[in-house]
Amino acid sequence: MKISHIEHIGIAVPNLDEAIAYYENVLGLKCYKKETVADQKVTTAFIKVGDVKIELLEATSPDSTIAKFIEKNGGKGGMHHMAFAVEDGVAEALAECEEKGVRVIDKAPRGGAEGLQIAFLHPKSTQAVLTELCEDPSKK
Ligand code: ZN
Repeated sequence: MKISHIEHIGIAVPNLDEAIAYYENVLGLKCYKKETVADQKVTTAFIKVGDVKIELLEATSPDSTIAKFIEKNGGKGGMHHMAFAVEDGVAEALAECEEKGVRVIDKAPRGGAEGLQIAFLHPKSTQAVLTELCEDPSKK
């Protein structure tokens, strides 16, 4: 696979508005978009830092993976995942990962926030960092 850059860093937060206030008021960055992704049971907020985005994730339901992550962290958020932009497509990258014995969470690409096609790799196979692969179909 060919990775071009870190697409975003996902950070789980218990309170999206408080988190946005920190990034805007302390770091002077700007949240340009909020989006709820229903099938992932999260509301996301995006902040751009150069070419990289920070994706803040707030659970919309107690059975969301983000809610469980925060619960495990004693009610606090924290860095949740790192997302790489793959140039040659998520499906191809997934096939390569499976061939190399990497445990994948998603067997096929699915729709994520910002119109991206995404898939997650299991942290057991990725040096303990939940890893997301993404591609922007509008850039193909
Ligand atoms: Zn993400």
